[in-house]
Amino acid sequence: MTRTRAAILEAKGAPLSVREVSLSAPKEREVLVKMEMAGLCRSDLNAIVGHTRYDMPLVLGHEGAGTVVETGAGVKSLKKGDRVVLSWAAFCGDCFFCNKGLTHQCHTVAWPRGKGLLPDWTTRFSENGKEIFHFNGVSSFSEYTVVYETGCVKVDDAIPFELASVVGCSVVTGIGAVYNTANVEEGSTSLVVGGGNVGISVIQALKIKGAVLIIAVDPKEEKWTAIKEAGADIVLPEISIDEIRKATGGFGVDYTFDGVATEETLNKSLAAVRRAGTVVMVGSPHPLAKYSLPPIEFHLEKKIIGSLYGSSNPVRDIPRLLEFYKQGKLKLDGFTTGSFRLDDINSAVKELENGGGKYTITFD
Ligand SMILES: [Zn+2]
Ligand SMILES: [Zn+2]
Repeated sequence: MTRTRAAILEAKGAPLSVREVSLSAPKEREVLVKMEMAGLCRSDLNAIVGHTRYDMPLVLGHEGAGTVVETGAGVKSLKKGDRVVLSWAAFCGDCFFCNKGLTHQCHTVAWPRGKGLLPDWTTRFSENGKEIFHFNGVSSFSEYTVVYETGCVKVDDAIPFELASVVGCSVVTGIGAVYNTANVEEGSTSLVVGGGNVGISVIQALKIKGAVLIIAVDPKEEKWTAIKEAGADIVLPEISIDEIRKATGGFGVDYTFDGVATEETLNKSLAAVRRAGTVVMVGSPHPLAKYSLPPIEFHLEKKIIGSLYGSSNPVRDIPRLLEFYKQGKLKLDGFTTGSFRLDDINSAVKELENGGGKYTITFD
């Protein structure tokens, strides 16, 4: 049993309560991790405002990096002292989906995960004997956490924790959308809607894949320099079908990566692709949203495909993207906006609510 300070969500809309709770030892295929740094992103905010159906109390945080302190029975890939990146897309390795190579859809892990539980349908966090739930199987806003082995990826010493703590979610999602979900071919043309960390990662992955034209859309002009540096050839404040046709010989792009995924952007994303082109829905829509879309576009063999976590397997894909980083192909500097201590996590939440951005949480 470990005592750990953790940021706990008690009720929808409430500020996070930072206090000491109990964490039991890792069970089979689980790992106890001492957190070095965590990343705060929109999914945490969605949980706070109540867009998710997690039971509470809940230890938030779904990305971060740390050091392995203890391994449970059957853990083969990790040992004490390993530096690791955490990912919420852990998987069992032998269910229907895992056997098809779709580890990001692994139901053995996803079902309990959605209920705030680890894969054996129990929690490790508790307070006075009462269970506290795990957010996305990660719960990185805690000095210590217990995660499933496949949601814990070893990284080498050359990767600083500042960087390791923020690659496990948006960067994997963006790169995976290009590499796994769409498997974009060399020489392609793309539209990328949204220039946040996911969009920037999509653009960089397209560049690595040898794209000949990348058009990006973001209403915030202050982001345009970063978007261009990532590799966009054209940046527009909104999706202009005229401009996109003009740039593509009149018929539209091969792919649109829609990181916003509202009814409006998805309609325009569909209009922006050429016949038989593909819209990859990278953003996550509101769980109850219903959209109206013109079926004639599908008759023209245009497609919309979903992309969950960039269809990524963290164990396979996180080392690959860190290798891109080491080779200078992938730029990961400037991804974070600021850093807060765990005790000041509510200030970080406010900053994110008001101005967006990406914050790291430190434990000292
Ligand atoms: Zn599985
Ligand atoms: Zn995230």
